[in-house]
Amino acid sequence: MPITNSLAQAVRAIPDFPKPGVIFRDISPLLNHHFRETIDMLSAQFSPEEWAEIDAIVGIESRGFILASGMSYAQNKGLMIVRKPGKLPPPRHSVRYTLEYGEDELQMATNLNPQRVLIIDDVLATGGTLLGTCELCTQCGHEIKGIGTLINLPGLNQFAWPNTPVRSLFTY
Ligand code: IMP
Repeated sequence: MPITNSLAQAVRAIPDFPKPGVIFRDISPLLNHHFRETIDMLSAQFSPEEWAEIDAIVGIESRGFILASGMSYAQNKGLMIVRKPGKLPPPRHSVRYTLEYGEDELQMATNLNPQRVLIIDDVLATGGTLLGTCELCTQCGHEIKGIGTLINLPGLNQFAWPNTPVRSLFTY
């Protein structure tokens, strides 16, 4: 079986979680059984030439941390974190972003040198989280060289960031 098929089979679809009508994509079995292949496949979405222009990987709390950490190690790149409120000491920037119902906030440290970054998260759903993260990176002076997610749910979003297509392993 091709490796992408066996990885795809390790993503569980959980109906009606966390609320009725939502299909939650659970990547826990994927991380448990195929961590290295997952990191390698997500890394392979970017060419050696693209990797050469990336200084650091930005992981979004919390599953984005897992993927970004593995990729940072595998590619020997720096790691940056985008956090939920109340976790990151100053100096930091904050953005409010839209959720399906309501708003939330993300924060990023401002005391790092401007870098060329690749943003990584597990799931692109409505796109609010990624949009907020792109805005944060820009406010902090970082240049966005790429965006990657394990899963894209294009039916839920029209996410777009200039000149930066999202590369994903699985689309549902
Ligand atoms: P968005 O802001 O609506 O695009 O949601 C993306 C964020 O919500 C990501 O950081 C994910 O961790 C989380 N998320 C949304 N849908 C799912 C899902 O089906 N499975 C796991 N995480 C999800």
